[in-house]
Amino acid sequence: MPKVSIHWFRRDLRISDNTALHHAVTSSAQVIPAYIQSQWQNTHPWTGAGKQQFLCNNIEALAKNIETLGSRLIILQGNADEELRRLIRTTHAEAVYTNRDPDPFGKAMEIKVAAVCSELGVAFHTFKDVVLHEAPEVLTGEGKPYRVYTPYSKNWLTLPKTAPWPKVESLGIQHRVTGLPLPRLEQWNLPPCTVQLPEAGERAARKRMKEFIEDKTLVQYGQCRNTPFGKTTSGLSPYLRYGLIGIRELYQCCQQAAEGADTTASSSIHTYIKELAWREFYMAILHSFPEVLETEFNADFRKVPWEGSEKHFEAWKQGRTGFPIVDAGMRQLLATGWMHNRVRMIVSMFLTKDLHVHWRLGENFFMQHLVDGEIASNNGGWQWSAGTGADAAPYFRIQNPWTQTTRYDPNGDYIRQWIPELAKVPAAALQGPPMTSLHPDYPLPIVDHSVERDKTLMRFKQARQS
Ligand SMILES: Cc1cc2nc3c(=O)[nH]c(=O)nc-3n(C[C@H](O)[C@H](O)[C@H](O)COP(=O)(O)OP(=O)(O)OC[C@H]3O[C@@H](n4cnc5c(N)ncnc54)[C@H](O)[C@@H]3O)c2cc1C
Repeated sequence: MPKVSIHWFRRDLRISDNTALHHAVTSSAQVIPAYIQSQWQNTHPWTGAGKQQFLCNNIEALAKNIETLGSRLIILQGNADEELRRLIRTTHAEAVYTNRDPDPFGKAMEIKVAAVCSELGVAFHTFKDVVLHEAPEVLTGEGKPYRVYTPYSKNWLTLPKTAPWPKVESLGIQHRVTGLPLPRLEQWNLPPCTVQLPEAGERAARKRMKEFIEDKTLVQYGQCRNTPFGKTTSGLSPYLRYGLIGIRELYQCCQQAAEGADTTASSSIHTYIKELAWREFYMAILHSFPEVLETEFNADFRKVPWEGSEKHFEAWKQGRTGFPIVDAGMRQLLATGWMHNRVRMIVSMFLTKDLHVHWRLGENFFMQHLVDGEIASNNGGWQWSAGTGADAAPYFRIQNPWTQTTRYDPNGDYIRQWIPELAKVPAAALQGPPMTSLHPDYPLPIVDHSVERDKTLMRFKQARQS
């Protein structure tokens, strides 16, 4: 009898450069593609309309791609172990294939699924796919996990990288299994999505990657990446989050672009590749130190008092703090589900160091709104900004939102793009605390940066000494 396998799609919603899918089709006569929707509802702090809609759009795009392979994506809903148990029984599958998830929740489910497969006498094959290097591959000389990015990245860069897997052309004999309709936003009890989402699907991801390389953003990345206005970065994070583009393919395209490039261009490409290593560094931190989801990575700062007010947190969420660069960032997030990295650093440092709001509240808000919301990178970014994380900005280095504006948005283009009330305000007026209101509808700064900075320095110093 021909071998029937199930491919369990998770954060790998594509048919090209998909490790587990490639292995499933090369060793089975029939591959049944399945996606299992979780039962998270809008009450979960990480569930947001934009993010969920983007997921729905990507599942729909995947379903269309699977149709081009002469098959049909099976949608299920519930706990993956129970749903897979049912699917294995109905299809008489002999094997389940999946790509390993780097986060603790995904890993916990893999353990349950492995137990179900073992009970049913079915093979369970898992593969490295989300990253170029999984945590156990990048260790110190003593075989320990790195706690700091720079030595981690030096080691990561020297390791040989796997080439992309070919696009899957067929899933073998057609199956007759039926599943649920494609997921819709209402299933999470969420309001309609008003966010301007990126185009969904594998094709859109590849198009974005090609544009990034061909329009020369990649070769100028070293000089431009800190400018929040315009297309200065890849914009690939939402696609990487849901696996619409394979990391091996992206890496290979960067290497090809580096062939014959001049010194400035190849240095830019190298800088970009090092950003991909940041992504894997934070995944490795979460793998080795899963407690970072609950507490500060740096134990010195577990007693810092976070006494920010609900009122200040609300103003930050709505982009109404009176600090234009902060408000522009928060409004970009609300409108598009994405924010430039430089501004993510500014707004997160502002929330924790100027408003003294706990980083975990900011972390949750980002997870709810970011279409690229990724547990490890988000936690790493928040702990970095709060001064509590791995390779954290030392607590005494507190960015000043006004000087950050002068440095990274000198003409005020980014601020004006996201805060229409300030469209006619001259750039110089956006670079320091205003004496009078900039616009009748725009608030005055809700705090004095230098006063709050001193409070933070005192609190961190005391926490470290206690
Ligand atoms: C407080 C805070 C929260 C963040 N939350 C997330 C998140 O939830 N999801 C997420 O993908 N990134 C997060 N980041 C990292 C970074 O801001 C985004 O990856 C980046 O802005 C995505 O845009 P891009 O694809 O154009 O990046 P590019 O500049 O084009 O970078 C290329 C890729 O490298 C990776 N990368 C770049 N910088 C970082 C970084 N600092 N940490 C980890 N990976 C990085 C991303 O995968 C990104 O797509 C966060 C940063 C901060 C400061």
